[in-house]
Amino acid sequence: MMIKKGKLKCLVSACLAGVKCRYNGKDCKNLQLYRMVRECKALPFCPELLSGLPTPRKPSQVIYRSGKRKVVSLYGENLSNIFQKGAILSYNLAKRFGIDSAYLKRRSPSCGYNSDQRKEKTFGITAAYFFKKGMKIFTR
Ligand code: SF4
Repeated sequence: MMIKKGKLKCLVSACLAGVKCRYNGKDCKNLQLYRMVRECKALPFCPELLSGLPTPRKPSQVIYRSGKRKVVSLYGENLSNIFQKGAILSYNLAKRFGIDSAYLKRRSPSCGYNSDQRKEKTFGITAAYFFKKGMKIFTR
């Protein structure tokens, strides 16, 4: 199916659209967002897959030290550069389709976002990058 540039309103975390791309191989489908994707109004994306990580993959978390975000896996590997790559590729995807907003999944080391911006330290890597670039962010 051809997607017309301009029809797409926003990006959607792919797991919210029903793609089984979470670290544990599951999704967390949201019916409303799934329908938006089906109707070609939203573009699903997964920054962790875009970065080259497989599914399933080791769980990871964001830690904030000395003013910097870092992503570490459950086994202590530093995944910060990989997650940053996913954030940049995701943003480039949005720009390519003229999209300036995104529905992001809560509590994710990539997509996690909190509308209380005083809690910016808790944002995932992609959410923080989108926020810095001025994208509008909604969470589910
Ligand atoms: S990175 Fe985002 S889109 Fe991908 S599985 Fe995690 S929350 Fe979903």
